[in-house]
Amino acid sequence: MTGASAPVFYMHNNFQYVIIGAGSAGLQLASLLLKAPKNLVGSILLLEKSPVHENKTWCFWDSIEHKYTGLVKKTWGSTQFSAAGFSKSENTGPVVYQYVESGDFYDFYMESFKSQERITVRYGVADRVSCEGEQCFVMLGDETICCEYIFCTDPTLLNRNDEVSDGVLQSFLGWQVTFESPVFNADCATMMDFEHSIAGETNFMYVLPFSPYEALVECTFFAESVKDEAIYKRQIETYITKKYGQDYQLVREERGLIPMRLLRDNQLPVNRIIPIGLAAGCIKASTGYSFTRNRRYAKHIYQQVLEEKEITAPKWKKRFLFYDSLFISILKHQPGVMQKILVQLFRKNKISLVLKFLDEDTNIFEEAIIFSTLPKWPFLKSLLFR
Ligand SMILES: Cc1cc2nc3c(=O)[nH]c(=O)nc-3n(C[C@H](O)[C@H](O)[C@H](O)COP(=O)(O)OP(=O)(O)OC[C@H]3O[C@@H](n4cnc5c(N)ncnc54)[C@H](O)[C@@H]3O)c2cc1C
Repeated sequence: MTGASAPVFYMHNNFQYVIIGAGSAGLQLASLLLKAPKNLVGSILLLEKSPVHENKTWCFWDSIEHKYTGLVKKTWGSTQFSAAGFSKSENTGPVVYQYVESGDFYDFYMESFKSQERITVRYGVADRVSCEGEQCFVMLGDETICCEYIFCTDPTLLNRNDEVSDGVLQSFLGWQVTFESPVFNADCATMMDFEHSIAGETNFMYVLPFSPYEALVECTFFAESVKDEAIYKRQIETYITKKYGQDYQLVREERGLIPMRLLRDNQLPVNRIIPIGLAAGCIKASTGYSFTRNRRYAKHIYQQVLEEKEITAPKWKKRFLFYDSLFISILKHQPGVMQKILVQLFRKNKISLVLKFLDEDTNIFEEAIIFSTLPKWPFLKSLLFR
């Protein structure tokens, strides 16, 4: 990561900050940094590999009013968890589950950056990054860009792929379907439905109803490898038919592959190349969610900028990393028991408390209550596998 010899300059480019990646983390950070006074944030280069943004469904829990309220397409006041013989739905107020289309998010910020002279958006692939003292360098082919700090979402540029612990993959296929008649409860998002899942696997359906007639129905696996495409399709077809009938039309498909893994020992570099997003471990290992973590992480960096401090990478709370490591270990070594753990988790706790726990907002007493409701043996066994 750190260059041994001085870089060759073919073209001179200077910025105060370079953000590599105009995704969830990069856009949130760029938009926040632009709120800082000009004497603190003079110039930003936002470097993005591709001019084509691939749309994704980004969801998160939050109160109704927040920074991105205008971009929220749909909210759900209640959340459901189901498994064979058990179903629970609960109003999660004052927090609601919210959906933003990543394409809307991308278009909105890219458009707003056009009128802000402090930010330059450029398409190109960063090949290498380095840091020497207080100077950082981003290499794009023959060109070198100089800056004070680099914020980087690409783990391969930071050699961070070697620093991650073993994990599993969250893989999913979603079908957005419409029905002629009303079949969905449009105010209730189903986080997990294990009712028709494959035995021995951590496999569930995730359902986001956009109206009584239309929903995104997603078949998800937490597993060591990606399954055959036919398996996801068969699971979705079976689920839709059994739950809602056959009279549906497929509007669009969505695919996802999200790493569920931890950065080893929470070690983050201490130079001026600050990892963000995927590279910083912002994707929560046990859930695959990152939108809220990217926002909190960006806020932390922004605060350091405002306080004119040396910017350092925020650290994750150690006890949540520990919980996530147990969860990942169980998924990896005892996949057949995860469904039982999740059923207990949702059956014995308020859904709002579970969501608070997943967002890492609980205190240690609430966490003790949650763990006391879960089967003990899988956790003890997972400690042996660590
Ligand atoms: C279908 C789908 C649905 C999802 N749903 C949710 C959800 O509901 N909630 C949630 O929290 N998360 C969700 N996720 C996960 C979420 O998209 C990621 O966790 C999040 O985007 C990670 O943020 P990031 O900024 O690190 O990466 P990205 O958003 O992927 O952005 C990284 C950007 O960097 C660019 N880039 C990479 N390398 C370079 C380079 N060398 N030079 C220049 N540019 C580069 C890429 O082109 C990309 O645009 C979903 C993912 C998928 C695929």
